[in-house]
Amino acid sequence: MNPTNPEAPAGPSNFIRDIVLDDLKTDKYQGRVHTRFPPEPNGYLHIGHAKSICLNFGLAQEFHGKTNLRFDDTNPSKEEVEYVDSIIRDVRWMGFEWEGVPLYASDYFQQLYDWAIELIKKGKAFVCDLTPDQIREYRGTPSEPGRESPYRNRSVEENLDLFARMKAGEFPDGTRTLRAKIDMASPNFNLRDPIMYRILHATHHRTGDAWCIYPMYDYAHGQSDSLEKVTHSMCTLEFEDHRPLYNWFIQQLGIFPSQQIEFDRLNLTHTLLSKRKLLQLVQEGRVRAWDDPRMPTISGLRRRGYTPKAIRNFCASIGVSKTTGSIELAMLEHFVREDLNKRAPRVMAVLRPLKVVIDNYLENQVEEMDAVNNPEDVSAGTRKVPFSRVLYIEQDDFREEPPKGYFRLSPGREVRLRYGYFITCTSVVKDAQGNVVEVHCTYDPETRGGNSPPDGRKVKSTIHWVSAQHALDAEVRLYETLFTKEDPSDVPEGGDFTDNLNPSSLETIASAKVEPSLSGATPGASYQFERLGYFTPDRDGTADRPVFNRTVTLKDAWAKIEKKSK
Ligand code: ATP
Ligand code: MG
Repeated sequence: MNPTNPEAPAGPSNFIRDIVLDDLKTDKYQGRVHTRFPPEPNGYLHIGHAKSICLNFGLAQEFHGKTNLRFDDTNPSKEEVEYVDSIIRDVRWMGFEWEGVPLYASDYFQQLYDWAIELIKKGKAFVCDLTPDQIREYRGTPSEPGRESPYRNRSVEENLDLFARMKAGEFPDGTRTLRAKIDMASPNFNLRDPIMYRILHATHHRTGDAWCIYPMYDYAHGQSDSLEKVTHSMCTLEFEDHRPLYNWFIQQLGIFPSQQIEFDRLNLTHTLLSKRKLLQLVQEGRVRAWDDPRMPTISGLRRRGYTPKAIRNFCASIGVSKTTGSIELAMLEHFVREDLNKRAPRVMAVLRPLKVVIDNYLENQVEEMDAVNNPEDVSAGTRKVPFSRVLYIEQDDFREEPPKGYFRLSPGREVRLRYGYFITCTSVVKDAQGNVVEVHCTYDPETRGGNSPPDGRKVKSTIHWVSAQHALDAEVRLYETLFTKEDPSDVPEGGDFTDNLNPSSLETIASAKVEPSLSGATPGASYQFERLGYFTPDRDGTADRPVFNRTVTLKDAWAKIEKKSK
């Protein structure tokens, strides 16, 4: 074993980790493990990218290697600095740090150009005048070989001259390409004289107007890996057929042989993981922004209250393989709950307030009740929650005519107010429409703190509450899945994935009441609102009117699914 090898891994191994272990054993790269995460800055990162981030950075960490963050910025028409900045922020937030400064494929434009000239000189590349449509037509079909371009046998001199003039800006977009000269009869389409360069008169976010020809992904990617001496270059399965081309360029140029390894993309139920489609949702105003808490983007999940640890644990648990499948969204939520359960302080909040007046409680009396901050974490301590004569409880926690099995508050019924007192409902006040707008109760002073009275009387229900005069007004945003269908792209002929958008994905509650300890809560913090779920402050909130996003409810659907499958 190589000395850089770590001790036994924490989680289960996977085929990529096994390849790395094997390469270390055979000393293929002198004990080096060097990976890269290569996002194209044409949108915000999503949870699928998180899988790739955890894989690339995780493997390098485990084997004391390095990971580069490299922007694949070869398409200036779709790329923006805003995206670059968001990607840097999101990778850091996930808890990873790259080697040195962020790198850019555009840093290599000159080198890639020089190599293209080298390939022309070797007779391995040519300038082609076919239009994009013609190129497609000449490419053939899976059962028929393609036809060679009539420009394929241009002399080296002519190719050099035309390529130089392409670079100099003499030709309009789309009129010429530089193509690799490989094999129009190859069963692999990617080897049928693939395009290396296209003409595109567009301003690049880093190189400005220095270039009007841009390398294609396949020509840029492997060479960028090679220049950075990347050992293991992981990408998703749809690039499997590109691997022969990846290797062909490296072989023709005789440069460092990085190794491409493909793994399965993450697919999640009720979720779309495609930057192009996510961009469409933003542009059409279907969501607030890229970081709308309903979006599967890392920034959306962050705003929703997901934690990096929960996402990392999720990624570790789904593993990597070569078989494409779909993961239940409930599984991701399970890891969010698991993490928040340990770290989120408990507080009381009432989403749909119903006024409760305790008639035998002194008018101006206020008591500070002790409340446990986190039963999962003794060190989190306790806090004081004010109790007074007028409270709010959840409308759902009162029924004038309780159905069978309903044990919460109703006329004549006694319940426990958590950390408060036992109260018994004596009467109700209704509005003109007959809705109950106020509930009158009495309390038992012997049950302070919510403890059972000396006579040992028991109640069947404990409900949460806030003191009316102390509570803060808050807006609360509740979320459901953004799409109604498990597979959002499942639409009938002529339909669009936006047809599957869930009209109730966002419910805004304008006048919730939350306990005063939440004053000054800032985005990034997480709370469990007792009985309601985990919540996080949103940046739309103000000091006197906070806004909370529900991160996830308390019900663990995934645990149920797992139980069923046992
Ligand atoms: P999208 O379809 O969202 O645009 P992409 O593959 O074009 O995705 P890139 O910016 O090129 O996005 O991806 C950067 C890295 O993240 C690549 O290595 C890519 O394979 C990986 N990646 C992207 N989506 C997923 C996914 N759903 N699951 C796992 N890895 C992914
Ligand atoms: Mg892409």
